[in-house]
Amino acid sequence: MKTSFDIAVFQGDGIGPEIMAPTTALLSELATQGGYGLTFTDAPAGAAHYRETGESFPPASMAAARAADAILLSAMGLPDVRYPDGTEISPQIDLRKALTLFAGVRPVTIRPGQPTPLALKGGQSVDFVLIRESTEGLFYTQGRGEVQADEARETLRITRAISEPLFRFAFDLAKSRKASGQGPGKVTCVDKANVFRAFAFFREMFDAEAAHHPEIAADHAYVDATALWMVEKPWAFDVMVTENMFGDILSDLGAGLMGGLGLAPSADIGADHAVFQPCHGSAPDIAGQGVANPMAMILSAAMMLDWLGGRHGVPAMQADAARLRAAVDGVVAEGRVLTRDLGGSAGTAEVAAAVREALA
Ligand code: NAD
Repeated sequence: MKTSFDIAVFQGDGIGPEIMAPTTALLSELATQGGYGLTFTDAPAGAAHYRETGESFPPASMAAARAADAILLSAMGLPDVRYPDGTEISPQIDLRKALTLFAGVRPVTIRPGQPTPLALKGGQSVDFVLIRESTEGLFYTQGRGEVQADEARETLRITRAISEPLFRFAFDLAKSRKASGQGPGKVTCVDKANVFRAFAFFREMFDAEAAHHPEIAADHAYVDATALWMVEKPWAFDVMVTENMFGDILSDLGAGLMGGLGLAPSADIGADHAVFQPCHGSAPDIAGQGVANPMAMILSAAMMLDWLGGRHGVPAMQADAARLRAAVDGVVAEGRVLTRDLGGSAGTAEVAAAVREALA
C-alpha cells in the first residue's frame, strides 16, 4: 500500500505564501503523527513569477504538477500584472484544462459561529456540495471567442466524455456523504433544460447515471430557481451538479451564504489528478500584512487528505482530514481567535496556532 505522497505546491501570489506556509506545517505534523509521508515540491508560477522572469507557468512546474500525487495551490494572479492582450495570469485555469479536472467541488457549510447573512432557525443547518464542471460548458471558447464590429460569440460545449464521469463523481460523492451521515443521499442536476437543447442533453445523461444509483435520490432544478432556493432553503440541497458558468456564479453565491471567502475551500478533481485550493484569490490589498485568514487553505488541505486517503486506502489520512475540519470548526465556534474577515483581530500565525492547538 502506498503511504508516502508527493505534493506539488503552488505558493502563488499575494497572500498565497502566507497561508501556504502554516498549512504545509500543519500537514507535516499530522503526517508524522499519522504514520504516512508527505513530501512538498515547490512549483513556481503565477503573476509575480511572470513579472520577474517573463514566464507565468514554467514547463518544469507543469511537469511537477503532473508527476505529483496531489496539488496544493493557494491563489494566483495580481490585477496589475497582465499579458500584453490585457488578460490576467491564471495558471490555475491552465491546470484545470491540462489535467482535465472536470469536477470543481465547492462545499457550502455554515458552521456554528460562522457569520452568515441567512437567519437560520434552531435545527436548520447548511451543508451541501456544489459540483461545477470545470473544463467545458460556456468556458469552452475561453480566449477564443469571436468578436466582430457588431457581434460577439462564445460557444457552449457539453460532451458525453466529460458529463458521464462528472455525474458518476456526483453520485459517488452523495453516496459517501450518506455513508458518513453527512447528507440524505441526493443529487440535484442544475440546468436550463427548458430552454437549451444542450442542457436537455446534459439532463438526459444525468438521468441515465441516476438509474445506476437507486439508493440515491435524483432531481432537477433550473439554474434561476436554484439561485432563489440557495437563499430561501439551502438546507434542502445535498449534492448539486452543474455546467461551468452556472457553477462559477452559484459557487460565489454559496461563498456569500458562508459569510465570505475566508472559510470556502475547493477541489478540482479529474480521473488522475486533483488540485486543492481556497475559493478566494490572492487578496493583494492585504498581502504582506500577516492578516490573511488561512482557514480556507487549511480546509482545502483537509479535502486533499480525504481524497488521497480514499484513493489509496489510507484511513489515517481521512481521519486527519476530519480532525483538521473539526479543529477549524472549534476555533470558529469559540470565536476568540479569528481574522478580520470573520470579525476578529488575530493575524494569520495566531489563527494557525489556534488550529494547531485545537488539533492537539
Ligand atoms: P480576492 O478573493 O483576492 O479578494 C476579495 C476580497 O476578499 C479582498 O478584500 C480580500 O482582502 C479578501 N480576502 C480574500 N481572501 C482572504 C483571506 N484568506 N483572508 C482575508 N481576506 C481575504 O479577489 P480579487 O481581489 O477579485 O482578486 C485578486 C487577485 O486574485 C486577482 O488577480 C484575481 O485574478 C486573482 N484570483 C485568483 C484566484 C485563484 O487563484 N483561484 C481566484 C480568484 C481571484
